[in-house]
Amino acid sequence: MSTTDRSTPILVAGAGGFIGGWLVRDLLKSGHTKVRAVDIKPKPEWYQLVPEAENLTLDLKDVEACRRAVRGAGIVYNLAADMGGMGFIETHKAECMLSVLINTHLLMAAREFGVDRFFYASSACVYNADKQRDADVTALGEADAYPAMPEDGYGWEKLFSERMCRHFREDYGLTTRVARYHNVYGPHGTWDGGREKAPAAICRKVIAAKLSGKHEIEIWGDGEQTRSFMYIDDCLLGTRRIMESGIIEPINLGSSQLVTINQLVDIVEKIASVKLERRYNLDAPKGVRGRNSDNAMISRMLGWEPSIRLEDGLERTYRWIYDQASAAREKKPLTI
Ligand code: NAD
Repeated sequence: MSTTDRSTPILVAGAGGFIGGWLVRDLLKSGHTKVRAVDIKPKPEWYQLVPEAENLTLDLKDVEACRRAVRGAGIVYNLAADMGGMGFIETHKAECMLSVLINTHLLMAAREFGVDRFFYASSACVYNADKQRDADVTALGEADAYPAMPEDGYGWEKLFSERMCRHFREDYGLTTRVARYHNVYGPHGTWDGGREKAPAAICRKVIAAKLSGKHEIEIWGDGEQTRSFMYIDDCLLGTRRIMESGIIEPINLGSSQLVTINQLVDIVEKIASVKLERRYNLDAPKGVRGRNSDNAMISRMLGWEPSIRLEDGLERTYRWIYDQASAAREKKPLTI
């Protein structure tokens, strides 16, 4: 069994979510025939439900559910986590940390059933907070996760689970791969309800202002905090290339196009052809002051790095959210 053998059974955990849903679609599109898609959510709530996959609703915090999900699989992608944007992770730390059960039980089942390869979706939130206090950031290289001082709750869970993958590899010979995603965005993800991240939230707010004719927007913080954002197509390609590679240590998977939140709003305003009055909510959750991905390692190891321009990815994301928001507006007003 191997990652390139199209008949290898594959488990995608978290398949009802944003990245998991796209990954299931992508694997099937590239010829894989046996994809098991698992999520805790009831199927009508999955962002994408692909009928060609074996779709199961299971709570993967439970060890028996993990055994059920992993049995027979040669490849496991773990994208399941209780997570969201800053508004969620700063206020649900215990819930975020409980995702440790998902990865731990999946690893145990993967070992038991002799899985060939295991992928874990880590995050830029593992990086030491002291190295992210300035908006004018030095991009974060893989070594910057230590000494450990990650994002409280969510980041600690990610860092611990990374190490769990490492020790299952060292002690039990399980082949593991870990990518540290930096802000992924695109269609078919969370855009409303409190778990959404900055690109989707800003698209929704601009759309709400446009549709209501009330031309103003609330921005969290002073808008000068910096981030980089990776479009979903780059994320999928990078994830699969890392999975197929010989890279055993956690590696950055993110765009290195750094922008301020104000610049992100500028881009969305341009796509929407509106100009909004900005109100800054300095008490809202903001996360670290500045964060960017240092892509030296991925460029060196894979000869590739994410490259889809933010302007292009946001255009596609905006159009999708616009359709969702227009349909949802028939039922209730949009959150500004
Ligand atoms: P998402 O919230 O859209 O998807 C995660 C899915 O996991 C959800 O559908 C959720 O229902 C499912 N899940 C949660 N608990 C579960 C459980 N107990 N059993 C089964 N399924 C469960 O998030 P996403 O953006 O698709 O993220 C996928 C992975 O990538 C996560 O591990 C996340 O932490 C990581 N990540 C994402 C980003 C990003 O910007 N999207 C950045 C860094 C890391």
